Amino acid sequence: STPAVMLSAMAAAARHGVLFKSSAALDALAGVQTVAFDKTGTLTQAKMTVTQIVADDEPAALSLAAGLEGHSEHPIAQAVVTVARDRGIAPEHVQDAQAIPGHGITAVDAAGQTVWAGNLRLAQRQHAVLSDTQRAALSTLGAQGASSVIVGRGAAVLGVMGVADALRPGMADAIQALRNSGIAHPVMLTGDRQEVAQTVAAEVGLTEFRAELLPEDKLRIIGELPGPVAMVGDGVNDAPALARADLGVAVASGTDVAIESADVVLIRSDLGKLAGAVRLARAARRTVI
Ligand code: ADP
Ligand code: MG
Repeated sequence: STPAVMLSAMAAAARHGVLFKSSAALDALAGVQTVAFDKTGTLTQAKMTVTQIVADDEPAALSLAAGLEGHSEHPIAQAVVTVARDRGIAPEHVQDAQAIPGHGITAVDAAGQTVWAGNLRLAQRQHAVLSDTQRAALSTLGAQGASSVIVGRGAAVLGVMGVADALRPGMADAIQALRNSGIAHPVMLTGDRQEVAQTVAAEVGLTEFRAELLPEDKLRIIGELPGPVAMVGDGVNDAPALARADLGVAVASGTDVAIESADVVLIRSDLGKLAGAVRLARAARRTVI
């Protein structure tokens, strides 16, 4: 049975919004060497807004982008659909929509042509060539820490959109507190671009990050980091990573599937409570031993 000291540590953590699903999870947190964070929806709020549109025919680009993103559940998609609706632009009708993890979304238009919205990797898959203006927009957005969506029909690029996401409040303090409790190498893992990752990492005080990762890359890296490894995620594409890590930590604003795959749930999405939970877990382990 669970030692009383562990039960009382779990109860104390729960009062602070840190829900351990088992005493094994509490014990695992005591031994964690590396904490890895997902970016979108974990370090950031995943409440994205379109901040910029670079297109020769803006309504046409927005209409196609909204038609595509209406079929996606990615947080970027909601921002695109919302800006089109706010501007009174009807989404173009597309069919056979397919989400491509780590890339974006593709579909077929009324004329049977492939249409797509996503990142540079997806644009390259479509053999699209970006103009100098479009390339310049991508690098400016990246330096601002904003993600970008490229929308195209066949090899033609209709436009580039900037999508900004706010950091969760208190993230820099939360990461510093983790370092203070002996987690020397917190790291961010993201599917987003190198430039965006670099900007966001600097804003929260993370010196280590890995960018442009496909979901399978995240799994591999979790296996390679100095363990035991805790992975903190919100769930959009994160459930396998949470399950793979020695300890999966879900932020509660995330998806149900992430919360199911996790060993620990931060019920008020407050990552600032993680460092305190590490100290609590270690104290409980010392007392039990
Ligand atoms: P992360 O949560 O780490 O940002 P994802 O695997 O969810 O990683 O996404 C990786 C990248 O794939 C995003 O940064 C974005 O560039 C692109 N992407 C994925 N889905 C979409 C979508 N529906 N629309 C546009 N871009 C997308
Ligand atoms: Mg995410």
